[in-house]
Amino acid sequence: MSRNYDLIIIGAGPAGSAAAAAASEEGVSVLMLEEHAEIGSPLACAEGLSRSTIKGYLDIKSEWISQKLSGSIIRDPGGKEFTIEYPNVGWVLNRKVFDPAIAEFAESKGAVIKKSAKAVGIQDNEVIVSRNGKTRTYKFKYLIGADGVASNVGRWMGIDTRMSLSEIEICAEYLLSKINTNPEYAYLIFGSSYAPGGYAWIFPKSTTSANVGLGISPLKTKKKPKQLLDHWVRQEFPDARIEERIFSGVPAKVLKRFSGRSFCLVGDAARLADPLSGAGIANGIKSGFIAGRNAAAIIRGRKDNLESEIRAEILNEIEWHHRVRKVYLKLTDNDFQTIFRIAEKIFRGKPVKDINTRQLVRQILLASPHLLGLGFRLLL
Ligand SMILES: Cc1cc2nc3c(=O)[nH]c(=O)nc-3n(C[C@H](O)[C@H](O)[C@H](O)COP(=O)(O)OP(=O)(O)OC[C@H]3O[C@@H](n4cnc5c(N)ncnc54)[C@H](O)[C@@H]3O)c2cc1C
Repeated sequence: MSRNYDLIIIGAGPAGSAAAAAASEEGVSVLMLEEHAEIGSPLACAEGLSRSTIKGYLDIKSEWISQKLSGSIIRDPGGKEFTIEYPNVGWVLNRKVFDPAIAEFAESKGAVIKKSAKAVGIQDNEVIVSRNGKTRTYKFKYLIGADGVASNVGRWMGIDTRMSLSEIEICAEYLLSKINTNPEYAYLIFGSSYAPGGYAWIFPKSTTSANVGLGISPLKTKKKPKQLLDHWVRQEFPDARIEERIFSGVPAKVLKRFSGRSFCLVGDAARLADPLSGAGIANGIKSGFIAGRNAAAIIRGRKDNLESEIRAEILNEIEWHHRVRKVYLKLTDNDFQTIFRIAEKIFRGKPVKDINTRQLVRQILLASPHLLGLGFRLLL
């Protein structure tokens, strides 16, 4: 079997598989490497996906979904809740089905996928791969690093991938069973006793199971996310059984540079997750499709639009959310309570069709002189 490919992709998460599908569709030869034996497992994700973020990129099939969502229940630091009715807002996916399905789609377009194949280094234009105790090299014309938040590819290609404490949210999440939850609503919970500098979530998988977790900013607390999650789960779901445990991180700042002459990074490897929500599935898929298409253009000697397309489709929104996060990190529990009172008035009794975050932030800031002071530079 050939060891020369036009394009090699490291990592078969949503970003890697989207890139593999897009490039294969353009007719270039593609090898995608996945270090684990199963695609989509182990997983570090609450599996929430909103319809608006993925629109135009992927039609979500019913077999990929654990639960359809009709809105969110928001809880403030004092325990008060209000509901945002948002019919058809999105889904809680089953990524153990979803991730392999996207990879199979890429395979159907011609991509070669090697599982249990761990990239361990790059030398000149070759990826060094360890598989079943053997080491092999595979040659590429172009390389895509889709190896997730703990990516090595960027570092191997000479990019500064160091992260400061302000640039990451650290997370703990359990898949819980034997609970009672309203399966149509995602719970989002705010405040320093739950998740300092972040938020806690319940993403229902059914009426009796959910991904329950939290992300925190290490700048805001010395406590470990596991400690906070264990405390909360004991109180909220005393009879629950923990089926799976996840401890991981979500990047909150895009890399300054994520491409070079013969390579680029996509998805979490480029730190393209949303800095406010931590959501990275949609941006992974978008950046993957964009990178796959543009890699094929580069391989064929044509002009590429990678940077401009990523900017238009992803970066403008991320940079705005990054600015909002800076203010978010300054909020006290009292500020959260003020925000919830304002937000409750905005959303109460009005089913939502779309949420424009710029408009919402402005509405909230303008309703409180204190918050306006805090967000003044942001507004300008
Ligand atoms: C606790 C938690 C909850 C989250 N919840 C949500 C959510 O509800 N919604 C949402 O949109 N996002 C969520 N995210 C973020 C989301 O999981 C990621 O943004 C998304 O998975 C990124 O996709 P990716 O393809 O870039 O990377 P990944 O999905 O991380 O895929 C990377 C792949 O590369 C493989 N790999 C790594 N190194 C190598 C190597 N050397 N050789 C070969 N293969 C390699 C890995 O095994 C993996 O399969 C959450 C994250 C965390 C930590």
